[in-house]
Amino acid sequence: MALSHSLGFPRIGRDRELKKALEAHWKGELDEAGLQAVGRQLRATHWQLQKEAGIDLLPVGDFAWYDQVLTHSLTFGVIPERFRPHSGKPTLGTLFGMARGVSQNTCCGGVHAQPASAQELTKWFDTNYHYLVPEFSVDQQFQLSCEQLFDEVAEARSLGHNVKPVIIGPLTYLWLGKAKGSEFDRLDLLERLLPVYGEILQRLATQGVEWVQIDEPILALDLPQVWKNAFERAYNILQREPGKKLIATYFGGLEDNLGLAASLPVDGLHIDLVRAPEQFPSILDRLPAYKVLSLGVVNGRNIWRNDLDSTLAILRQAHERLGERLWVAPSCSLLHSPVDLVREDKLDDELKSWLAFAVQKCEEVALLTTALNDPQNPAVHTALAKSRAVQASRAQSPRIHKPAVQARLAAISGADSQRQSPFVQRIEQQRARLQLPAFPTTTIGSFPQTASIRLARQSFKAGKLSAAEYTEAMHSEIRHAVQVQENLGLDVLVHGEAERNDMVEYFAEQLDGYAFTRFGWVQSYGSRCVKPAVIYGDLSRPHAMTVAWIGYAQALTQKVMKGMLTGPVTMLMWSFTRDDISREQQAQQLALAIRDEVLDLETAGIKIIQIDEAAFREGLPLRQAQWQGYLDWATQAFRLCASGVRDETQIHTHMCYSEFNDVIEAIAAMDADVITIETSRSDMELLQAFEAFDYPNDIGPGVYDIHSPRVPDTAEMTKLLRKAAQRIPVERLWVNPDCGLKTRGWAETEAALVNMVAAARQLRTELA
Ligand code: GLN
Ligand code: ZN
Repeated sequence: MALSHSLGFPRIGRDRELKKALEAHWKGELDEAGLQAVGRQLRATHWQLQKEAGIDLLPVGDFAWYDQVLTHSLTFGVIPERFRPHSGKPTLGTLFGMARGVSQNTCCGGVHAQPASAQELTKWFDTNYHYLVPEFSVDQQFQLSCEQLFDEVAEARSLGHNVKPVIIGPLTYLWLGKAKGSEFDRLDLLERLLPVYGEILQRLATQGVEWVQIDEPILALDLPQVWKNAFERAYNILQREPGKKLIATYFGGLEDNLGLAASLPVDGLHIDLVRAPEQFPSILDRLPAYKVLSLGVVNGRNIWRNDLDSTLAILRQAHERLGERLWVAPSCSLLHSPVDLVREDKLDDELKSWLAFAVQKCEEVALLTTALNDPQNPAVHTALAKSRAVQASRAQSPRIHKPAVQARLAAISGADSQRQSPFVQRIEQQRARLQLPAFPTTTIGSFPQTASIRLARQSFKAGKLSAAEYTEAMHSEIRHAVQVQENLGLDVLVHGEAERNDMVEYFAEQLDGYAFTRFGWVQSYGSRCVKPAVIYGDLSRPHAMTVAWIGYAQALTQKVMKGMLTGPVTMLMWSFTRDDISREQQAQQLALAIRDEVLDLETAGIKIIQIDEAAFREGLPLRQAQWQGYLDWATQAFRLCASGVRDETQIHTHMCYSEFNDVIEAIAAMDADVITIETSRSDMELLQAFEAFDYPNDIGPGVYDIHSPRVPDTAEMTKLLRKAAQRIPVERLWVNPDCGLKTRGWAETEAALVNMVAAARQLRTELA
C-alpha cells in the first residue's frame, strides 16, 4: 500500500483567524490564553481537513505563531542576548520580541533597559514567504528550550491522529542563519547542535512517534563541498537516534546532491517532482532498497488542479518498483498555497474548476494514492474523468488562448527591444528637453496612503461612493501631492499613487487574463498575508490604465510629471502564474501590455516614465546555472516594454533592494535611462557594484531610508551624496529616497524631503 502524507499545511486559517488573533494579542485586546485557544482550534481544524481529504500521515510542527524558523530557534535556545529572558524559559513574549523588536522596556516578563531591534527577515528560498534569520554567536550554545513540538504531538494524538512531526534539519538551519559578533564558520556549530536533535528524536520516540520529517531544502541548492561533507557527518551521528527519518527536499532538483541525498543513512527521502520532474525515473535506480521514496507530485506553490492522468503514469511506474515504500505528497509544504477553494463564491464555475488550494491539493494526493492502492475504486474513475475534463477545457478555452495576443508575441522583433539611439545620445536630447538642474530631485512614486484614501477606496468598492465621487477624492489627493512637491521645490514630480491599492494588483485588475480570489491569502511573514492575483489566460490591456490620473497630475504643474508603472517581471513574480506556458512567455505578454501604456503616456505628453522592477532580483533561480537564462528573458521583457518610446522620453526604473553585484550586468542591459535604488542603509557602499562595473546610465542612489519614521537631517544626506559622487560622475547622479513613501505619514515625509532638497542644493553649489 502506498501512503499519502502532507509536508505541512497553511497555518493562517481560511479566514485568516491567526492573523486576526495575533494582531488582537499585540494590541492587548486578546490575552495569551485566548491566543492559545485560537491556535489550538486552528491546528485541530487543519488536521481534520487533511484527514477528511484522505491524508494518511498528518504533519505536526508546521504550526508557528510567527514563523517556523523562529519557532525552531526558540526550541533550540537560539535567542540573541538582547531578547534573552532574565529568568526561566522563553515565552511567547520572547518569541514576539525576536520577531517584532522590543520598543517598551518590558518584555518576556523581565525588564529591558534598552529597546531591542527585531531579528532580520529574509526570503524563504524562492518563495514570497519570509523567515526570521537565526543569529548565531561564536560561543553559541544549544539547549532544548521550548515544548511546543511535543505539546502539539500530544495534542494531535489526543485527537486520534496519525502524525509525523516536521522539523528543520540541522544543515538547513545553520545555512539559514548568520554569524553575529565575530566572523566564524556556522558549520563549526554543528557538533554542538546535534545533541539537541538527538534529544528531540528521543522525546518524540517516547511519545510513540514512528516517522519524523526532517526538512533539508538546501539539498536543492549549490552547496560548497564542506557542507556536503557535513551532511554525511550529521546524519551518521543522527542515525543512532530513535525513530524513522524522512529527509524532505523541495523547491528544486537535487542534481549534484542526488547521490548524497539518496545515500544518507535515514529511512526515507522526499523529492520535488513538480519543480524538477527530470529527477524521475533516475531516482528509482539511485535509491537504496530499504528506503521510502516520497514523491512530491502536487504543486504546493501554485493554484492549478493536477493533471491526474500524467501524474498517475509516473506514480504507477514508481509503485511497481517500490510498492509500499512509495509515498505520495505535495511538492512542498502547502504553506505557500491558499487554504480552501470552497470559500471562493465569486469565481465563475469554469475558472473555479481549474483551481485547487491546500485542501483540494490534499484531496488530489489522497486520490492519487487510492488510484495506486485500489484502482477499481469508483471515486478514482470519477476524479480522473473530472481531471480530464479540466485539462481539456484549459487546453481549448478561448478565455485562455487569445489568437491576437499570440500573434503579437510571434511578431516581436529584435528592434522592439531596442531604443532608437544609444544612451549617450538619448540623454543629450532628454537633458535638453527636461532642463533639470544638476542633482535633480525626485521621489519613487507613492506618497502616504492615508486612512482617508483607504476609506475612499473601500467605500467605492462597496458602492457607497460613486465613480465620480471616488475620482474627485483621488484628484484631491493628487492636487495635494502636487502642491506639496511644488512647495518643497522638487524637480521631477509624481502623482502619488493614491488610487493604487497595490503596485501589482492595481494593474492586474485592468488587464485581461487575470483573475482575483476573495480568500486566496498566503502568509508572507508573521501576521502579514498576500493575495496574489492569478494569471489564467493570455494577457492584454483593453484600455489605458494610468493615463487619466497622470495626465490630470501633469496638467496641474509646469514641472515634469513622472508617469509610474509596474514592470513585467515584478507583475509576474508577485502573481500566481500559469503552468501551461513558460514564465518567459507570460513576461512577454505583460511587457507588451505595459509597452502600450508607456506609449499612451508618451502620447499624452508625459516626458518621464518610471517602470518599477522591485522583484527583478528576487526572481533569480536558486541554482546559479539557471541565472543567466532567467536574467536574459527578464531583461528582455523590460526592454520590450520600455523601448517603444522616442529618444527624448526618459525611462526610469526602480529596484528596492541592495545586492546588485550578482545582477549588475543585467541591470545595465535593461538600459533604463535612470535607475533609482536603495542604498542609504549601506552608506553608499552598494554603489561599488556600479562603480566597478562602470555602469553607464544615470543613477539615483537612495539618500534616506523610508522604512523608518526618523527624519534624517540635511548634513546626513549631503554626506551620503558626496560619497556617491566619489563613485559616480556627478552629471549622472539623481537625488531621491530609497523607496516609495506610501507607508509613511505626511509630516515626516515633508520634513525629510525638505532636508533632501536642501542637500541637493548644497551639492549643486559644491560640486556641479
Ligand atoms: N512606485 C512604487 C512606490 O513608490 C515603488 C514601490 C516599490 O518599489 N516597492 O511605492
Ligand atoms: Zn522600492
